[in-house]
Amino acid sequence: MTMNKGRLIVFSAPSGCGKGTMLAEILKDKNYCVSVSATTREPREGEVDGVNYHFISKGDFLQKVADSEFLEHAEYCDNYYGTLISEVDGRLNDGLNVILEIEVQGAMKIREKRPDALFIFIAPPSVNELRRRLKKRGTETDEVIEKRVSQAAGEIALAPKYDYIIVNDALEDAVSDFFAVMRAEKLKAEFSENTINEVLKNA
Ligand code: 5GP
Repeated sequence: MTMNKGRLIVFSAPSGCGKGTMLAEILKDKNYCVSVSATTREPREGEVDGVNYHFISKGDFLQKVADSEFLEHAEYCDNYYGTLISEVDGRLNDGLNVILEIEVQGAMKIREKRPDALFIFIAPPSVNELRRRLKKRGTETDEVIEKRVSQAAGEIALAPKYDYIIVNDALEDAVSDFFAVMRAEKLKAEFSENTINEVLKNA
């Protein structure tokens, strides 16, 4: 049977929504991979070049913009971030589902360029719960936490622009919701050309 192309999945969530934990679960399924973005920000402790990001200079980043190497790029907190076409198209052609873990502005650019992409927003159960989770981490001052909560509220307000909103209350349920979405999407007529060709073979 001819292989269907993989699906481009845009996955956005404010910080503290458990996106990382969800992704780790999803990536256990080898039909999924994540695109490694390029960024001009400094690596954090424990981050590995080529794994978490391709860490590059501002000059190299701007050269890649000029060479049209990005599917989208955005400025976020004084640094540049961009999705490299080379991370995406080859894998989609190989039948892999490629996840872009990007913020809302970049997501909206993908919406224009790749209307067949799937847009999933991960939301916390409530802003109060988000605040509680950020406090529990204990890594930020109350002032920074409030800044993040207000940034998150702004991002959550844009969630209706996505195709699906998954509330990450219990991790297991959120992951199961993700795979339910993917199952239904796979059966959509517009992505089933190969399936129909196969059914009609020898007709
Ligand atoms: P961080 O610096 O915390 O790793 O990422 C900051 C924000 O940039 C996060 O919301 C992350 O999803 C987003 N981001 C990471 N890579 C890209 C990218 O290639 N394009 C866009 N538009 N946003 C990205």
